[in-house]
Amino acid sequence: MRDQCVDQPKMEAQLLLGYVLNLSRSQILAEMFGPLSTEDLDRFHSVIDRRSKGEPLAYIRGFKEFYSHNFYVNSSVLIPRPETELLVEQAVLRSKPGDLIGDICTGSGCVALSIALARSDLQLIASDISLSALKVAEINRRSYTLESQVKLLQADGCEALQPQSLSILVSNPPYIETSHINTLQREIRLFEPGIALDGGDDGMRFYRKLADDGRRCLKTGGTIILEAGFGQSDAILKLLSDSGFIKLHCMRDLSGIERVVIGELGD
Ligand code: GLN
Repeated sequence: MRDQCVDQPKMEAQLLLGYVLNLSRSQILAEMFGPLSTEDLDRFHSVIDRRSKGEPLAYIRGFKEFYSHNFYVNSSVLIPRPETELLVEQAVLRSKPGDLIGDICTGSGCVALSIALARSDLQLIASDISLSALKVAEINRRSYTLESQVKLLQADGCEALQPQSLSILVSNPPYIETSHINTLQREIRLFEPGIALDGGDDGMRFYRKLADDGRRCLKTGGTIILEAGFGQSDAILKLLSDSGFIKLHCMRDLSGIERVVIGELGD
């Protein structure tokens, strides 16, 4: 795996052995297992082989931790990223009991479901255009028994939402410029769904739509919280300002990148 550019080959091999034997990494480290059966050994070699060919660990193991919860993932959805937790934090901080929150491009549902798990006093609508992504979100919603709190919708953006119905609109939309997709790491380029990455020629296609959607679906004074790609925050701020949003600002992620853009819908 080291030869195939896997960053932490030893740790990942331990996690994959744990996956095959159904043991935690600490149980693997404590060597709480006997000699491997031929079947286990075959399965271990097969997952090491998949990982060596670039398949992300999260797709092989079938889950990723996000905001301290495990979410089921497969290749129909983007693997949740730690920087996206900022969206959840901000939505949780800024919402009031009874608020309706929209999560657009929900993918695995990690954002909407994490908000719901943190705040049982909120209602959420999570939408995605991809039916196969929504199936993943549905599995996650069921595993946390959030059916009554989170509604899932197959829709392009906010098209199915009522005007002025949302207190908060949150989204981590596809934001990679089309021409940059083939420069991404192999793991992303070959395995993650292009539809969840491709933000059009300038990477801004979905922000334009979200600015329009936000103006229509948010209540006056409602909050828009968007994840931004590297170097996109200024363009998003301008777009939101031109669309009638005020009190605009950005928040940086742990790497110092302006990662989240926040604004309120003015009168
Ligand atoms: N909301 C999901 C996430 O943040 C999916 C985002 C997407 O598909 N662009 O992981």
